[in-house]
Amino acid sequence: RVVVIGSLNVDSTSYVDAFPAPGETILARDFQVALGGKGANQAVAAHVAGAPVEFVACIGDDASGAYAQGALERLGLPIAPIRRIPDASTGVAQITVAASGENTIIVTGGANLALTPALVDAERDRVAAATVVLTQGELAVDTIEHLARVSNEVGVRFVLNLAPPAAVSAATLAVADPLVLNEHEARAVGVGTDAADGATLDGWRVLAASAAGGIARSVVVTLGAAGAVAADATGSWTAAAPRVTAVDTTGAGDGFTGTLAAFLAEGRPLPEALRIAVAAGSLAVQSRGTVDSYAPRAEVLAAAGA
Ligand code: ADP
Repeated sequence: RVVVIGSLNVDSTSYVDAFPAPGETILARDFQVALGGKGANQAVAAHVAGAPVEFVACIGDDASGAYAQGALERLGLPIAPIRRIPDASTGVAQITVAASGENTIIVTGGANLALTPALVDAERDRVAAATVVLTQGELAVDTIEHLARVSNEVGVRFVLNLAPPAAVSAATLAVADPLVLNEHEARAVGVGTDAADGATLDGWRVLAASAAGGIARSVVVTLGAAGAVAADATGSWTAAAPRVTAVDTTGAGDGFTGTLAAFLAEGRPLPEALRIAVAAGSLAVQSRGTVDSYAPRAEVLAAAGA
């Protein structure tokens, strides 16, 4: 079982010709509402990958919260672990996409701010019963750190996607198994430096290998169109991504991480879970949307040749 403790947002996207100036009102060409937040995206990805998932998140007592619950239910995730916080608004990302492809994003944390260390304590039994606990850098630092501590105490594998690169302690990174990072986040935590700009997949494999066992128990670095690398105490591996036409890379990293957690929970070795997660990420970039772009398990396994 995979327990995801993380953010849930409702993404509201307006598609405009050009951004409005302060004080200006403009008409958008199109508008879309979708489930978002890294916690929600990764929980859905792990579920689509075939893992039993319990997603612990906080929503507000509002229409957006009801929408998010409905979206999770339609996708087949249990909504019992979702908490409704009175007098809070559901987390929201107000996104504007201009014809140029540029975007502006305003995130209001809202009910996500109720994901506190006390909530982790309240979920201790659920954490203890998990095979893998997965969280992201979108939570408050003290919540991430407490979850790392509790997971370690109860002996459950702690997968940390440090996106964005929150300033967590070395002790928290040390128990991550794996610590999942993209190139930018990898540099932020000291896996690779600016000198690693443009490094090859094999160059990143070597960097990950030197970080595994030092910074974290194991390390995974995703490298966009190139694929990803992984390392733990027993070895280091590369997984090249297939050459594909990317139509929408939104949520690819979340698709990758949720899939990785699902297959680790199933007992697959890290190099095998890595290859499957790269296949999932590469399928996700080939269709529009975030959670809607995650391919079903059979398709991902076929693409990975697993
Ligand atoms: P993030 O979006 O978090 O920065 P990446 O860009 O590294 O993450 O992408 C995560 C994974 O998605 C990659 O490891 C790869 O499997 C897949 N991916 C991303 N972009 C592409 C692409 N252009 N072609 C093929 N696969 C891709």
